[in-house]
Amino acid sequence: MRYCIILLSVLAISCSKREKKYAPLTEPVSVLFDSSLKPFYHGVASGDPLHDRVILWTRVTPEDSLPSIDVTWEIAEDESFSSLVNSGTLTTNPDRDYTVKVDATGLSPDKHYFYRFKALDGTSMTGRTKTAPAGGRDSLTFAVVSCSNWEFGYFNAYANIAEKNVDAVLHLGDYIYEYATGKYGDTTIGRINLPVHEIVTLQDYRTRHSQYRLDEGLRKISIAHPFITIWDDHEVANDTYAEGAQNHQPEEGDFNVRKAVAKQAYYEWLPIREGEKHYRSFSYGTLADVIMLDERLEARTKQAEGKDDPELWNTERTMLGKEQRDWLLAKLKNSTATWKVIGNQVIFSVVDESFRPNAKGTDSWNGYPVERTFIADHIIHDSIQDVIFLTGDTHASWAFEVVAFDLKKYNSKTSAGAFAVEFGTPSISSSNWDEFYPLDTAKLGEQLYQKFNPHLKYVNGIDHGYLLLTLYPDRAKSEWYYVETLREINLSERKIKTLEVNKGTTKLK
Ligand code: FE
Ligand code: CA
Repeated sequence: MRYCIILLSVLAISCSKREKKYAPLTEPVSVLFDSSLKPFYHGVASGDPLHDRVILWTRVTPEDSLPSIDVTWEIAEDESFSSLVNSGTLTTNPDRDYTVKVDATGLSPDKHYFYRFKALDGTSMTGRTKTAPAGGRDSLTFAVVSCSNWEFGYFNAYANIAEKNVDAVLHLGDYIYEYATGKYGDTTIGRINLPVHEIVTLQDYRTRHSQYRLDEGLRKISIAHPFITIWDDHEVANDTYAEGAQNHQPEEGDFNVRKAVAKQAYYEWLPIREGEKHYRSFSYGTLADVIMLDERLEARTKQAEGKDDPELWNTERTMLGKEQRDWLLAKLKNSTATWKVIGNQVIFSVVDESFRPNAKGTDSWNGYPVERTFIADHIIHDSIQDVIFLTGDTHASWAFEVVAFDLKKYNSKTSAGAFAVEFGTPSISSSNWDEFYPLDTAKLGEQLYQKFNPHLKYVNGIDHGYLLLTLYPDRAKSEWYYVETLREINLSERKIKTLEVNKGTTKLK
């Protein structure tokens, strides 16, 4: 594979020498470029921090297509780059959409670093990143986010997180949305999807990623903190499973081709370490292990038709698949960290939605009860405590004492019958319940969810924002922050709710 790339770039160079002319670079998002950032319009980002290394990312945009561009990178202990720790030069080209990614090694644990890139006579913004701690800490804080949709509004929540003191940002998916303009969005704000059609081809996915990175809030959060990302469905298409998606129609071609190009663009445009599997884990010293799951593309069986579909109980149906499930259970069992944090895409807890007779409700773990029971049984049987599920997907905030079987066996006063806690993060910008239904209906929905689900300790279907998870040796705290508006760049926010759980318990208070 590598040979082909080298050979291709050699050919490209020799061709170019003969012709001295390249196709012009078509960059439909260039209307959004801030010329002062040239040629690094997309800023910089970092991700997947380990104890001794972190992924550094940027994108260099030439004025016209070039067969290759040399890019220098530097990482230092200080913002003025006088204490350089590592540096190098690498080459990018159109085959990777001029994106640049380096795994910067030789770093020390639990430390801030500063990094930048140079190319085409320009220097990028300086980014700040942080390695994971190897030993103990008094506390750790993660910002938890999901569901950032360009057309629904400005990513103000991202900009607010940039100002917070966090160790990393955990993005639980729906980092982009695939829809055509107006299909799922609020076009009155004036943020129109590019391309305007539904993204299907490699170039489509690249353009959409490029556009999202030009949001000021995303640029700010990316230069301030490392990201740990997992994809959900919209990085490919709505309600994706391993072999298809609700929003993939035959006229859009072979689903496997679409899935492959969506993955390619994702890996090009996000600061993620490229490995064989998307699911992966991070050691944050004695305080936490962070386990990120792939609940979409790895092995998800097609969603069942509804709550009464007998297929629901087919023992072959999986969200994770055997390999990933075994890996998760081994990780949990072998973890010596105080907190086992699971980056999970869709609600894990049992949710009673019988008050919504028409709701399909089979895309979450409610739709994969056999595998959920298997996982819960193991956690209980192996006496694994202090498990925290973090969940995105729903465009609402949630806090559950996790029950995976029968709600009748759960005691709301003592939390007996629960074996973990689950915190759901609201959307950065994707539509809340009140942007889909009238406000009264959304509020009634909140009340009914709480009435039917005694293990649900908090729900909010009306606000956009994020949650901060702070882990201490003796307790964990979740705080929900909400932004005032998405319709303009505005950094007003409110902290509305705080819940804590003590180590060794599942009681939220
Ligand atoms: Fe979403
Ligand atoms: Ca479609």
